[in-house]
Amino acid sequence: MIKDNIIKVRERIALSCAKLKRSPAEIRLVAVTKNRSIEEIREAMDTGLLDFGENRVKEAVTKFNQRSTISSGLTAIKLHLIGRLQSNKVKEAVKLFDLIQSIDSLNLAEAVNKQAAKINKLQDILLEVKVSPEPAKFGLKPEEVIAAAEKISGFKNIKIKGLMAIAPIVENPEQARPYFRRLKQVFDQVNGLGVIGEQFSILSMGMTDDFEVAVEEGATMLRLGRAIFEG
Ligand SMILES: *Cc1c(COP(=O)(O)O)cnc(C)c1O
Repeated sequence: MIKDNIIKVRERIALSCAKLKRSPAEIRLVAVTKNRSIEEIREAMDTGLLDFGENRVKEAVTKFNQRSTISSGLTAIKLHLIGRLQSNKVKEAVKLFDLIQSIDSLNLAEAVNKQAAKINKLQDILLEVKVSPEPAKFGLKPEEVIAAAEKISGFKNIKIKGLMAIAPIVENPEQARPYFRRLKQVFDQVNGLGVIGEQFSILSMGMTDDFEVAVEEGATMLRLGRAIFEG
């Protein structure tokens, strides 16, 4: 079932890409595994997925700390933190995650940098941007991103790879389009300034209910949970 879901998702991505003359190869699929069992994760891995996202550090540590308990020879998989990172979890997060997508303040970036320095790691991150007015959403304001990116680009143990945003929950995916467009705009602005360089290439936006619109608006990374595990 999971395998069929992934095939269907890839077909839908390919269709959206075709509209825009984009190559599906530009789009990375992150399987969001929060609340999913080891068996489900393993099934997704067996179809060749390499990127997995969790939104709680503790749950991720339990499930992925022993990567060998999931499957052998998994050094190629990448783990993404997509949920809020609290300062008391920074140490564990830096140890475990390949890409921390939820850096939403300068203070948090500083804490991650400090921790990464301690273990001699160059930590890949995305800056989370609050593109929606909903009070519950975290992230930098769009107008804060450039200054934050400039500052963080001076941190030795952090590599800023791009931006992430969560669109609000809407009835119709079309209603998410302006938020994706806004994030792409900020992304282009940062790129235009050239403060970070070509490593700044990831635009993480689009979930189960809105990923096709996200692809149309330039997403290079989709975070999908239900589309993969529930179909
Ligand atoms: C849960 C979650 C997702 C995946 O959501 P689906 O709607 O199941 O695809 C993506 N991004 C974040 C930040 C999440 O918390």
